[in-house]
Amino acid sequence: MTDPAFPRPARRFEGVGFSEIVRVRNRVMELLAEGRKVWRFEGGEPWMNTPDAVKAAMGDALVRNQTRYAPSSGIPDLRKAILAKVRERNGIPADDEAPVVVNGGMQGLFAGFAALLDPGDEVLMFSPYWTPVADLVAYHQASAVLVPTESARRDGLTAALARRVTPKTKVLYWNSPANPTGVVFSRAEVEEVAALARDRNLAVISDEAYEDLVYEGEPHVSIASMPGMAERTIAAFTLSKSYSMTGWRLGYVIVPKRYQSAIKTVVLYTTNGVSTPTQWAAVEALARGTEYVAEWKKGYRDRRDRLVAGLKTAGFEVEPPRAALYLFPKTPPWLGADSRQAARTLLDEAKIATVPGIVFGPEGEGHLRFSFSVSDEMIAGGVEALGAFASTAAR
Ligand code: PMP
Repeated sequence: MTDPAFPRPARRFEGVGFSEIVRVRNRVMELLAEGRKVWRFEGGEPWMNTPDAVKAAMGDALVRNQTRYAPSSGIPDLRKAILAKVRERNGIPADDEAPVVVNGGMQGLFAGFAALLDPGDEVLMFSPYWTPVADLVAYHQASAVLVPTESARRDGLTAALARRVTPKTKVLYWNSPANPTGVVFSRAEVEEVAALARDRNLAVISDEAYEDLVYEGEPHVSIASMPGMAERTIAAFTLSKSYSMTGWRLGYVIVPKRYQSAIKTVVLYTTNGVSTPTQWAAVEALARGTEYVAEWKKGYRDRRDRLVAGLKTAGFEVEPPRAALYLFPKTPPWLGADSRQAARTLLDEAKIATVPGIVFGPEGEGHLRFSFSVSDEMIAGGVEALGAFASTAAR
């Protein structure tokens, strides 16, 4: 709605959505405010608290009065810790200036797209995808070119991607392990995609938010560790999932030389860096490596398996995903294939909150996303409510 008496908002916001997941959450809040019990599977964050040692490190920083401006790309201690981590654990041959500290994975992705995209550029991305990515592409007035994950994996990634490359293709957004499907691409697949990126001269934005949440099978492989790929990959990481720190807003990007100035400029003129005490907490977190997440994995796996069993009993076809925090089953016949309608029915009639698959792209239609990163009580109660609703609805 534009009113000629006032300047209109910038055109770049046309076509940029504002998270439908937030819309689901708002409806959940309404129900909770009415005093209803809601079985909440719509979220996307670790269920446990931030480790005490990490919280204490922030307190210590405050006591030391580490409360002033820090360099906008991050405090040297944290950038050094990040560099050691990505070199050792991810095998990325990053140069000393490559790490830039950002406000969560989201700012890392925003800065990555801002550094690379001109209006009219095309971005290849697998679908289903994490919803905000399509909006980040739209914000930069570029086009998302979707590659259906399932058929591409079946028929060969190179062919599926190559068929969609045009002279305008500049970036490949690569998310492994993936939200919402939990797909972890194999080393062979990563090698294949890296070869295509080199052959077709594409930059890669590699979203590794779930790198530490792989429950079984082959571990996660960073695409920037492949030969010649560190030079063309902006890799976005976050402490949100690995350290249960979603609210702290702490992430980092590993940036090739030629894009460092652009990324640092975006960070400088948007947030001018991350809160200084938060960065000290991150130094402590990284010093602990994967100690915490290694302990948490069993809890994740148990929750995943219990929710899978509950969904199967209710008539969903679902296999346990190897990674991340979500089940992404097809809706059973008794719920219908329209995912928005299915999610609405479950929420209104069974008080079970999920995310409709369509928000993750057209390939997500006919699916619902359930987070299994919820309390024991939520799994038990949700499964019971789902079973009860399914047995009446299926009749
Ligand atoms: N990438 C993916 C695929 C995600 O699912 C998320 C969080 N849901 C992020 C990036 C960003 O997380 P944060 O901004 O909390 O670091």
